[in-house]
Amino acid sequence: MNIAVNTSQSKYHVNEKGYFGNFGGAYIPEMLYPNVEELRQQYMQILADPSFQAEFDQLLRDYVGRPSPLYFASRLSQKYGAQIYLKREDLNHTGAHKINNTIGQILLAKRLGKKRIIAETGAGQHGVATATVCALMGLECIVYMGSVDIQRQAPNVARMQMLGATVVPATSGSKTLKDATNEAIRDWINNPVDTHYIIGSVVGPHPYPDMVARFQSVISEEIRKQLLEKTGKETPTYVIACVGGGSNAAGAFFHFTDDIDVELIAVEAAGKGVHSGFSAATSQLGRPGVIHASKTLLMQTDDGQIVEPHSISAGLDYPGVGPFHAHLYESGRAVFLNSTDNEALAAGYELSLLEGIIPALESAHALAKLTDLPLKKDEVVVVCLSGRGDKDLETYIKHLK
Ligand SMILES: *Cc1c(COP(=O)(O)O)cnc(C)c1O
Repeated sequence: MNIAVNTSQSKYHVNEKGYFGNFGGAYIPEMLYPNVEELRQQYMQILADPSFQAEFDQLLRDYVGRPSPLYFASRLSQKYGAQIYLKREDLNHTGAHKINNTIGQILLAKRLGKKRIIAETGAGQHGVATATVCALMGLECIVYMGSVDIQRQAPNVARMQMLGATVVPATSGSKTLKDATNEAIRDWINNPVDTHYIIGSVVGPHPYPDMVARFQSVISEEIRKQLLEKTGKETPTYVIACVGGGSNAAGAFFHFTDDIDVELIAVEAAGKGVHSGFSAATSQLGRPGVIHASKTLLMQTDDGQIVEPHSISAGLDYPGVGPFHAHLYESGRAVFLNSTDNEALAAGYELSLLEGIIPALESAHALAKLTDLPLKKDEVVVVCLSGRGDKDLETYIKHLK
């Protein structure tokens, strides 16, 4: 896979200083500098190594099940009056796109000689994907998780434990994702030599946003090939993806950023409504600030304290957005829309009934915006179906109409 492609000519990708336009960088405490600097110096060399790429490709194929299908959704297409394709990341091993990144990072950790893996997780999806690849490679795995989330997400906690990971509760602050991230950073500071920190989205200090985007870029690389086969043209009219931190969207957009006739549509979670006080629509509500060592758009109070986000879908419940997306937003390259909890639930039911596919609630946010686009019959739309809905059944059922 083309994960080491040179993007230095693109104004939308990272520059040599680690910035996407005005966003990104590495705002790290001095004690974290050696860890991040080691990664920064080595990641592109490692990603460009043919033996690394061969191992990455082989695991994506034989373990994850790639390429994921690009499925022409005919009943959905009929309903919305366009040619709608679903990129089926839901069919990956562990049920979402997150495994693409954890496979890449575990191979990188091995090349760096690391023996111990740490990760943060909110709902547990990234924790499960990390515990999975640690089991695969026989490496120790510690997952930090807010104690409130441990209560709410018992099945994923059990999965991680069955896969051999140690789940450590984060008990400070709101006891959720951002507190788990703080604990993971603290661990990394204390264990700089033998530990690699697998971040789960295109967030955190440079080089993580670029590195994670590259591991996820297999999504758009495959879409181009698959579209060429199916439609005779590599580029669609629209690519639509939901955005939490932004990794599935970054992967779906990566190889389209410089095709300016392709409209990139990022969909954030509006929760109970953008201005309801219960939302995670970061581009609409955020201002520039620093979160988890990266300068980006961030939901914050007037004095810079992080505002708690809300979304019915745990994967979109993040108060920031990665610097790549902050730049796509500010530059106008991508259009940022948002879906409420109720719109996402309705879209999840609709896909289930029209196509026999129960989507993750995160992915349902992207599907919910099909109705907002001025679609024409021959236009090609690709929706990134980031994950499957099994984990969300309880929520869907609770809201059964
Ligand atoms: C975690 C998750 C997301 C959100 O994360 P991104 O980094 O924004 O992609 C979206 N969909 C699913 C299924 C997830 O598990």
